[in-house]
Amino acid sequence: MTTLDTDTLDMVLDTLREYAAKQLTDEFLRDLDARDEFPVEVLKELYDPNKIGLHLLFIPEEYGGLGGGAYDIYRVSEQMARIDLGIATGVLATFLGTDPITVGGTEEQKAHWMGRIADEGLLVAYGATEPQAGSDLGTLTTKAEPVVEDDRVVGYKISGRKQWISNGGVAAIYTILANTPGGPSWFVVERDTPGFVKGKHEDKHGIRASNTAALFLDEVYVDADRLVGGVEGQGLAQAQAVFGYTRLMVAAFGLGGGWAALERAIRYSQTRIQGGGLLSTKQAYTHKLLVPNAIRLEAARAYIEWTAARIDAGEPDLQTEGAIAKYMATEGGNKAAEDAIQALGGYGYTKEYMVEKMKRDVRITCIYEGTSEILEWTIARDRWQLHLKSRGAYFTDWATRLDALAAVNPASGAATAALAMRTLATLMERCRLDRLTRNQHILFRLGEMVAWAETAAIFAERAATPTPAIPLGAETRLAMARVHARNAALKIASEGLSWAIGAGQTDPNLANSLGLPAIYAAQAGQVEDMNRVAADLVAAFPAE
Ligand SMILES: Cc1cc2nc3c(=O)[nH]c(=O)nc-3n(C[C@H](O)[C@H](O)[C@H](O)COP(=O)(O)OP(=O)(O)OC[C@H]3O[C@@H](n4cnc5c(N)ncnc54)[C@H](O)[C@@H]3O)c2cc1C
Repeated sequence: MTTLDTDTLDMVLDTLREYAAKQLTDEFLRDLDARDEFPVEVLKELYDPNKIGLHLLFIPEEYGGLGGGAYDIYRVSEQMARIDLGIATGVLATFLGTDPITVGGTEEQKAHWMGRIADEGLLVAYGATEPQAGSDLGTLTTKAEPVVEDDRVVGYKISGRKQWISNGGVAAIYTILANTPGGPSWFVVERDTPGFVKGKHEDKHGIRASNTAALFLDEVYVDADRLVGGVEGQGLAQAQAVFGYTRLMVAAFGLGGGWAALERAIRYSQTRIQGGGLLSTKQAYTHKLLVPNAIRLEAARAYIEWTAARIDAGEPDLQTEGAIAKYMATEGGNKAAEDAIQALGGYGYTKEYMVEKMKRDVRITCIYEGTSEILEWTIARDRWQLHLKSRGAYFTDWATRLDALAAVNPASGAATAALAMRTLATLMERCRLDRLTRNQHILFRLGEMVAWAETAAIFAERAATPTPAIPLGAETRLAMARVHARNAALKIASEGLSWAIGAGQTDPNLANSLGLPAIYAAQAGQVEDMNRVAADLVAAFPAE
C-alpha cells in the first residue's frame, strides 16, 4: 500500500486544523448538537478538492485520489475526531462505504466508482446492519433476486431493510449487503433508484452532527454490473477483509475523542484552584482522572501505529490487531471523556464546557464497527487458537523477545510486559487444562487480557520513538510504557486468578504459578512514574 510523504500529510493536517479553528468553533458545534443537524455545507467544503479534499485521501492515485495509507488515515481520523466525532463519522462513512469496492471490486468498478467519488466529492454510506442483524451479520434478510433474461443474469431486485446507517439520509451512493442465491454480496445502489426510501434522521445520544437513518428497499432494481466483484457470495469475506483497516479508523476516533476531552481537563486543572492550590498540583486528582487515561490512550496509539505500519507494508489478515487497537483505544477514549467530566466538576456537567458533548460523542466508538464485546470475542478466539497451536509458545516467545529488549532498554517496561505475557500463557494453559473457556465469560475476559498484554508489549517496544501526533518526549513515553506494563501484568494476574477460581480451576498454587509475587514486586516505582507523567502532561498542555 502506498502512503503519503510527510510533507503532504502535514499539509492535510494543517489545513484541517486551520479550517476547524475558523469554521468549527465550539459554539458552532454545540449548536449543531443542540439542533441535531448534519452540516451539509461543512461536508461539501471538506470534500471540495479546491479546499480540503479529504475524501481524496483514501482513494488510490490511479483513480484520482491521493493514495493515503493506513497510517495517514489514522492520523487524519484522529484529528477529525478531536474536532468533532459527528462530522468525523460523516467522513468515515464514505471511507467505509467505499471499502467493499476497494477490496472486492473489479478493475472497471474501481475505476468507475472511485473516479466518480474523487471527482464529484460524493458521500457514500455503508449498509450492512439490519434491525435483527447487528453483531451477527450472518442473519441478514435483505434479498437480491436475480433478474434473468435469455438465460443470463442481467440485474438484481433488492428488497429489505437496513438500520443505523451513517450518511443514510444524505449519501449519493450506497453499498448494500444482500443475500443472493450464491450467498451474501455487496451491491452499489444510487440515491434516486426507484423503490429506495430513506428513513428519518435518528435522534441519538451523541454524534448528533452525523446523519443516521434506516433504509428501505422495495424491489430496487440494479444492473448486474452493480454486484461488487461480479461474483455472488463474497460479501462477508469482503466485509471481514476490511476490518483490520476500518477498525483502525474507529480506533483513531476513540483516541481523538478521548484526547480532546482529556486535553481540556488537563488545561482546566491549571486554572482551577481548590483546597488552596491548582487542581493540577493535586496528586489524588491527576493520578486518578488524568494520568491513567493519557497512558491508556498512548498505549493504544502505539498499537495503532504498529498495526498501521504492518498494513502499509502489505501484510494481510490483521483483523485481530485491528480489533485490539479499536478495543483499547475506544474503551480508553470513553473512560478518558467520562473522567474529563469529573475533572471539570459541575462545569463538566454543563454543555458550555464541551466535555459533556465529547463524552456522548465518543460513546459510539465502543459500539459501531464491532462492539467491545464482539472485539473481546474476536481477540480471544484468535489468540486462543494461536496458544493451542503453538502449545503456549505464542506468548512465551514474545516474553523472550521482551526480555531481550529489557536487556538493552531496561527503562521501557519490557521486563514487566514479559511477566504479563508469561502470566497470560500460564492462565490460558490453566483454562485449557480445566476447560474453563466452556464459560463464554471466561473466553471474553481472556480477550480483554490479551489486549492489555499485547499493548503493553508494543508500547514497551515503541516507547522510545516519539510520535509526531502528541507533544510528549521519549522519557515521558517510557514512563508511560512502564506504568501500562505494570497495570497490564497486575490485571492479568489478579483478575485472571479470580476468574479462574470463580470458574472452578484446580491448581491449588495458581497465585504463584501466575507469578503474582513477582508482579507485585514489579509495581515498585509506579507512583514516581505517574508523578513524572502528570508533570509532563501539564507542561505539554498548558492553560489557555
Ligand atoms: C450511530 C450509529 C451509526 C452506525 N453506522 C453504521 C453504518 O454506517 N453501517 C452499518 O452497517 N451499521 C452501522 N451501525 C450499526 C452498528 O455497527 C451496530 O449497531 C453494531 O454492530 C451492533 O449491532 P446491534 O446494534 O444490532 O447490537 P446487537 O448485536 O444486538 O448487540 C447488543 C449487545 O449484545 C452484545 N452481544 C452481541 N452478540 C453477542 C454475543 N454473541 N455474545 C455476547 N454479547 C453479545 C453486544 O456487544 C451489545 O452489547 C451504526 C450504529 C449506530 C448506533
